[in-house]
Amino acid sequence: MSVQRTLAIVKPDAVAKRVVGRILTRIEEESFTILAAKLVHMSLAEARGFYYVHRERPFYESLCSFMTEGPCLLMVLEGENVIQRWRDLMGATDPAKAAAGTIRKEFASSIEANAVHGSDSLESAAIEIPYFFSSLELYPR
Ligand code: ATP
Ligand code: MG
Repeated sequence: MSVQRTLAIVKPDAVAKRVVGRILTRIEEESFTILAAKLVHMSLAEARGFYYVHRERPFYESLCSFMTEGPCLLMVLEGENVIQRWRDLMGATDPAKAAAGTIRKEFASSIEANAVHGSDSLESAAIEIPYFFSSLELYPR
């Protein structure tokens, strides 16, 4: 195992439901380090670019529209094996299938409005983090 970074997003549904604080508590309880964080209301172009890998999926346009409904909390988390550990904490994409105790089980509204995002691999994290955060914002500390 090694120290990794991942892009975590609290999606517009969870920001609108005012559960950001409770999700941040879960992150802190795992002892992940929040390296950087900002509230961003994405444009449609920004959402389309972020989810470009899903451009052929039937839910792509609806997903991109949902991601622009309001601001998201974007974060870079750091920690041992944080990519898998954050995804474990998020739970399954579909909240109906998410395990008890996961963030999606507790806070997601639907398979689309599912509260949080996390990079799914080192390769994805290496693309997703610089999509939203400059090297200056990730100043080593
Ligand atoms: P994320 O990439 O947001 O962390 P994930 O890796 O669990 O979630 P993906 O398969 O990458 O899931 O899908 C990206 C996002 O697209 C999901 O989080 C969800 O918001 C949306 N999505 C996935 N499947 C569907 C679907 N069948 N219908 C509507 N939206 C969906
Ligand atoms: Mg994904």
